[in-house]
Amino acid sequence: MVENLIEIKNLVVEYNTNKGILGKKETIHAVNGVSLDIKRGEILAIAGESGCGKSTLARAIIKLEDAKSGEIDFEGKNILTMDKKELKNFRTKAQMIFQNPYASLNPKMKIIDTLREPLKINTSYTNDEIDKIIFEKAEKTGLTREALYKYPHEFSGGQRQRIAIARALVLNPEFILADEPVSALDVSIQAQIINLLKDLKESFNLTFLLITHDMSVIKYLADRVAIMYLGEIVEIGKTDEIFNTPKHPYTKALLSSVPQLTGKKEEIILQGDLPSPANLPQGCKFHTRCQYCMDICKSTPADNKKITDSHSVNCHLYDKISD
Ligand code: SF4
Repeated sequence: MVENLIEIKNLVVEYNTNKGILGKKETIHAVNGVSLDIKRGEILAIAGESGCGKSTLARAIIKLEDAKSGEIDFEGKNILTMDKKELKNFRTKAQMIFQNPYASLNPKMKIIDTLREPLKINTSYTNDEIDKIIFEKAEKTGLTREALYKYPHEFSGGQRQRIAIARALVLNPEFILADEPVSALDVSIQAQIINLLKDLKESFNLTFLLITHDMSVIKYLADRVAIMYLGEIVEIGKTDEIFNTPKHPYTKALLSSVPQLTGKKEEIILQGDLPSPANLPQGCKFHTRCQYCMDICKSTPADNKKITDSHSVNCHLYDKISD
């Protein structure tokens, strides 16, 4: 049996803002009762439109965002109730790769110093031991030793993302959260970084949570996919299951925009915009844009229905809409 590295139970993340109409205070319901497992050694992707809550969920998992309620177990221990020492240990095991590699690097520090920093803070290794680790991780990410003595502005976007990946690796993490890791890069460079992530996952037996809106990146990299809509996971399954037999109308719409991946020619145009997470619809949260909406959808959320052991969906019509 595959062991879960992370188990998320009924996670809720909300925050208040006063940017609403007439400056009124409003509560943004960013993550609404998400339960999710991330298996050791897998790449789980979370997909959905901008504003669906996927980045907030990711940031909560790595404790960059506070959760209102729920549980996030990492190796069986809830990170929401960890003490300082446990949290420090967790932060060495869980690292993040950001969308914008330039913003995540200190422009005034040479690359080698940027890579040394987490090792100096979190370990008691000698300087020689630290540099040995850095040289090994730099080589694995395709950086020359010469490159380590330069500054971030001397590199292209792709090279900077390699540096950011090397930085994420120096502490030998078990879990990497990659938030849109290639979307800021030239298309010509994206494939190189995607292949690098795939190689590193194998070399270091890493577990990845991949946040992206790019379904082609998901198809190539992910073992499983969770589809998120207005702070909820509406469908989850193995990548092949999601691409070949999507069940939720929202998943179908997302996939219809990339016909080259599915072979389906007809694009499904969603009605209206994504509702505000400050004002969530009743019932199924997708009902305001769903072409199959029935009366029950407006008042009653759909339960989670199992399609296979690995594939499940939240939709009243889960077994009635053709593939
Ligand atoms: Fe559409 Fe109803 Fe299914 Fe929601 S539950 S996705 S509104 S058919």
